[in-house]
Amino acid sequence: KARVFKFGNKTADGNSTMKNLLGGKGANLAEMSSIGIPVPPGFTITTEVCTEYNLLGQGAVVEMINEDIEDCIANIESQMGTIFGDKDNPLLVSVRSGARVSMPGMMDTVLNLGMNDEVVLGLAKKTNNEQFAWDSYRRFIQMYGGVVLGMKPASKDDIDPFEEIMEHLKEKRGIELDTEFTVQDLKDLVYDFKDAVKKRTGQDFPTNPWNQLWGAIIAVFNSWNGDRAIYYRNMNGYPADWGTAVNVQAMVYGNMGDNSGTGVCFTRDAGTGENVFNGEYLINAQGEDVVAGVRTPQQITKLGSQRWAELAKVEETDRAKNYPSLEELMPSIFKELNSYQDILEKHYRDMQDMEFTIQDGKLWILQTRNGKRTGAAMVKIAMDLLKEGMINEKEAILLVEPNKLDELLHPVFDPSALKKANVIAQGLPASPGAATGKIVFFADEANKYKNSILVRIETSPEDLEGMNIAKGILTARGGMTSHAAVVARGMGKCCISGAGALKINYKKRTLTVGDHIYHEGDWISLNGSTGNIIEGKVATIEPELSGEFAEIMKLSDKYSKMKVRTNADSPKDAKVARGFGAQGIGLTRTEHMFFELDRIKAMREMILADTVKGRKQALEDLLPMQRDDFEGIFEAMEGHAVTIRLLDPPLHEFVPHQLATQKDLADEMHISLQAVKNKVAELEEFNPMLGHRGCRLGNTYPEITEMQTRAIIEAALNLKERGVICKPEIMVPLIGTVKEFEAQDAIIRTTANTIFEERNDKVEYLVGTMIEIPRAALMADLIAEKADFFSFGTNDLTQMAFGYSRDDAGKFLPIYIEKGILKNDPFEILDQEGVGQLVKIGTERGRSTKPNLKVGICGEHGGEPSSIEFCYNTGMDYVSCSPYRVPIARLVSAQAAI
Ligand code: PEP
Ligand code: MG
Repeated sequence: KARVFKFGNKTADGNSTMKNLLGGKGANLAEMSSIGIPVPPGFTITTEVCTEYNLLGQGAVVEMINEDIEDCIANIESQMGTIFGDKDNPLLVSVRSGARVSMPGMMDTVLNLGMNDEVVLGLAKKTNNEQFAWDSYRRFIQMYGGVVLGMKPASKDDIDPFEEIMEHLKEKRGIELDTEFTVQDLKDLVYDFKDAVKKRTGQDFPTNPWNQLWGAIIAVFNSWNGDRAIYYRNMNGYPADWGTAVNVQAMVYGNMGDNSGTGVCFTRDAGTGENVFNGEYLINAQGEDVVAGVRTPQQITKLGSQRWAELAKVEETDRAKNYPSLEELMPSIFKELNSYQDILEKHYRDMQDMEFTIQDGKLWILQTRNGKRTGAAMVKIAMDLLKEGMINEKEAILLVEPNKLDELLHPVFDPSALKKANVIAQGLPASPGAATGKIVFFADEANKYKNSILVRIETSPEDLEGMNIAKGILTARGGMTSHAAVVARGMGKCCISGAGALKINYKKRTLTVGDHIYHEGDWISLNGSTGNIIEGKVATIEPELSGEFAEIMKLSDKYSKMKVRTNADSPKDAKVARGFGAQGIGLTRTEHMFFELDRIKAMREMILADTVKGRKQALEDLLPMQRDDFEGIFEAMEGHAVTIRLLDPPLHEFVPHQLATQKDLADEMHISLQAVKNKVAELEEFNPMLGHRGCRLGNTYPEITEMQTRAIIEAALNLKERGVICKPEIMVPLIGTVKEFEAQDAIIRTTANTIFEERNDKVEYLVGTMIEIPRAALMADLIAEKADFFSFGTNDLTQMAFGYSRDDAGKFLPIYIEKGILKNDPFEILDQEGVGQLVKIGTERGRSTKPNLKVGICGEHGGEPSSIEFCYNTGMDYVSCSPYRVPIARLVSAQAAI
């Protein structure tokens, strides 16, 4: 089998469909090469070799591919007209990682490989540029040292050993910038760097280019299992066995002088989705300089440059002179780049994120990939591409990542609060959103406060975990394409970068703006959409479903074949869900209505009552409260189906366990404290989740079912009088036998008939059941003969199928997941293999006796994308999920049907 794939000079062995094998970068380099985009020639070592390396080790891999690699290097040599390791006409290469999905900054890269004391002289002579040659050499030792030889800072307080040497020299020479080094300085640096390597590793820096190449290839494979990469993989759920490919390519130089440069660009705005070509570049620099956020880069387009200047408060004349765009500085290169971005976006039919280098006036494209974007940009781009005719409706729906919609459902700053806000500084709007929190200065301290804002001079990939925890990210340096910005956009996290007015002192843990000093723990707020940094806390409001978001939802409903309902326990939640397009309620947990203070009192009296009479008395008090709630919910749902579940939880959850509250209750009920204590003790259970709960309550205390039925039916009748037709679906929880259901069904129907007679009026209603005990799934054919509908309660079904207590699983599930005993938390992601069988069996058997049986799901899984897809494939009529998941479920339901 082929393990190494060549590309370059308008041909390639691979193509863009081979991402799993060649990695995203490799597959796209091959594709670009075949469609005539100028990419530096090179080759890709497959992800399978990475896996083979992990299994068999370096020796085996060298044996397998050494010849291929020699062959491929010869191919690059012939295309570039240079020779690897040659002292007169040397070829240098880059070695980069590339997994099947892009993991920005998570893995390692080595540039300028093939350099040694002789090659540097040859390069200097050939290019007639000593400065460039020696600068490339010192960069190579620095990168190779860090990536391959482990020359990295020992701790977070430590500085990079190579940076330290450079700082010393700058101090000695009284200069500030890397670009101010003389040729002699660079030679000294190379000498000192090599010396530092020898001291720290005990080995000479490798001079043989082939040894260097193998060192770098193996280091890239190893970086797949580095801490950063593992954290990123786990965060995104990417499996370890994917592996990374390695891309080796001829070097092209952005640092050969003022006719060279390098940059990153996007075919559309990754923050807002706006259709404007944009990006950043640096003259006389190598790729890493742009993304590392060390020098603040300039804009690609004139329009972008003007927008930047406005934010940075730079005058137009100053801008045009000192920060010109590429469009103004190198118009013909810009024109060429602009044509490639157009070709590539049309070719891939999605927004592209590209890297390019200009070497001595010639443009090379180093990389293209589908660009990371915010949730808002994702939705806008999908709808715009559809409107532009580049993709069809189904493709637009598939372009939206369900979980990313979540970002659009988060609160935004309240515009009226924003008017009063004290804006203390402004940076680049690197990733939109509203974030408010307390200042922290170190990524590993982001969890110090419940809401924190990570404030850094610049971020590095090591900060990833902290960036994920923080509510927002603020950096003093870096552009729109710095790691901080790219990663934040990927996470959908609010981020402001390059806020030059901030002075950050890590030692004192202070942030100074003008003459005002902010300390760790002080509140600040970030508006990632404008770049405004605001003092203190700013109020937020709920988002709404409008614009392109509403359009994509409407489109989803067109293709969706399954309804989306919501789990809502109050009129307020029901209204929110309706706003998000819920087509009914799949579960109202009536017990949640009793948690409020005045209600829980009546509830406790009911539970503590010794006689049926006493219990009925207390239930009388609860009746009007429930009826009001139900009316509110029916009203909010505007005639859509509403499923209301009878009381479910163990009663002891409602009684007071603290002495003081027990005493209050005793006083209020005019009974002894001892009586209260006795009752509480009596309700104590060893296994409450398997105890006196669900329909077992209604069957032992039928008066509870009677009261709840009355509240539901009366509410429906009251609404009918007001002209709102609703058809309640009364749901019996936790049945395991047919008889359990029949007994409840009889009480419900008798009660309803009584009310119909009392009121001399009627409403239609259904009586169905939850399937959440494995036995119920197995008996579904018989149960369906009696029940009007089924709703799978996969929380309990998971609990009982696995035998994992819902209340106690937190103790061992994380360890199980870490050890790989379980792939993920089955309470979060439906276990399709096992629990899923019960869902399938239940549905099939139920429909075997009642072919048109209505079936849905109301466990937490109803809002989880992979589980929703499973529900669709099982033939469910609807899924029900929490209000904020409704748009996600609508989208997934459509994607499943496409
Ligand atoms: C379930 O068990 O899945 C369910 C929806 O009910 P609850 O979570 O209230 O037990
Ligand atoms: Mg349940």
